Amino acid sequence: MNKDVFAVKGNIVFTPGPEGFTLHQESYLIVERGVVREICRSLPAEYAACRVEDYGDRLIIPGFVDLHTHASQFNQRGLGLDLQLLEWLNEYTFKEEARFAARDYAAAAYQAFAAEIVRQGTTRVVVFATIHKESSELLFNILARKGIGAYVGKVNMDRNCPDDLREETEQSLRDTEEIIRRWQDHPLVKPVITPRFAPTSTEKLLRGLGALAVRYNLPVQSHLSENQAEVRWVAELFPAQAEYHKVYDSFQLFGQTPTVMAHCIYLTAEAVQHMKMAQVMAVHCPDSNLNLASGIMPVRKMLAAGVPVGLGTDIGAGQSLFMPATIVSAIQLSKLYYVMQPECKPLTLSEAFYMATKGGGRFFGAVGSFEPGYSFDALIVDDRAEHARGRSLLERLQQFIYTGNAADIAERYIAGRKITV
Ligand SMILES: [Zn+2]
Repeated sequence: MNKDVFAVKGNIVFTPGPEGFTLHQESYLIVERGVVREICRSLPAEYAACRVEDYGDRLIIPGFVDLHTHASQFNQRGLGLDLQLLEWLNEYTFKEEARFAARDYAAAAYQAFAAEIVRQGTTRVVVFATIHKESSELLFNILARKGIGAYVGKVNMDRNCPDDLREETEQSLRDTEEIIRRWQDHPLVKPVITPRFAPTSTEKLLRGLGALAVRYNLPVQSHLSENQAEVRWVAELFPAQAEYHKVYDSFQLFGQTPTVMAHCIYLTAEAVQHMKMAQVMAVHCPDSNLNLASGIMPVRKMLAAGVPVGLGTDIGAGQSLFMPATIVSAIQLSKLYYVMQPECKPLTLSEAFYMATKGGGRFFGAVGSFEPGYSFDALIVDDRAEHARGRSLLERLQQFIYTGNAADIAERYIAGRKITV
């Protein structure tokens, strides 16, 4: 028997689509070279000799995909959240990010971040570092050593930020390209083009970043329409562009290559339509939007328009890296929105779970599901002590999402490899 093949046995739960969960009680999931081959009730004869990890009555669910977060803000979680976005950036975030010029500070913060996302059950992450080339590469290295799947962005900023974070435009592009060359072929940890957001970028910088994205066929991440003062500021800074998203689009940073845009709260119908046409992914970050009083993303409208939507923790504006908490916040916020706008039905648990797994996972390819051909990224959830008393599988999943925590996660797999905390 090929030693690249093994099986896990347990209660398998996942969302092939947003409309509902697929449940396989006491079943085998066959993994071959890190990829899901099939799920079956008994082990087929051809796999009779393969290694079986028997998880008994535990749950086996896809690992979570955090589509937007800031590793460099790990140490500032919970700080300054009486402020709104632009003041919070100046008073807290820029000061914190400036500390990443020091290699030792960055190494300690990024190691703590990587350990924490593994502990919390995140298996794939799209993440911002800072402007600093050396410490950004530390983050690549730390995530790669842990075996976490990631897109890591060295941040680019060349205006409207403190002197110690303002890059010289050409140097910013050169540093970015150097990192691209070193990391573009890594199997798990890859570069993503990362203008912080339009206001901290000159047109020259955005043009250069768009050219790099297209030349190296790299994905793009940034922020879009998070806060009303920000939206007004972008209109002042880029008077030639009719709308915020057009700033990115005019520099090849909006769907010319796979793109994720965090927040997307104040978009016109035309902008939403543009996102659908270009298949730009919107990242809903409910905790962050609540903490900074930014607003509520109209998720139901985005979904109805055909825009792909994922979920992000967005620390440090968000307070927690535990994706089930983000799932719950997204559902709760959608219910509040529904009370104000009854035509927008609340998110269901399966819809929000899908966003946190297969929905966000599409940014990484075949990730976030247990259908054949998907990367075996999985969590073994051990809820037996508290929750298994006569509950159905679906009820057990509901209780894990709403009342569980990292201590309930017994094992983590990424691309078929067991990851240690
Ligand atoms: Zn963010």
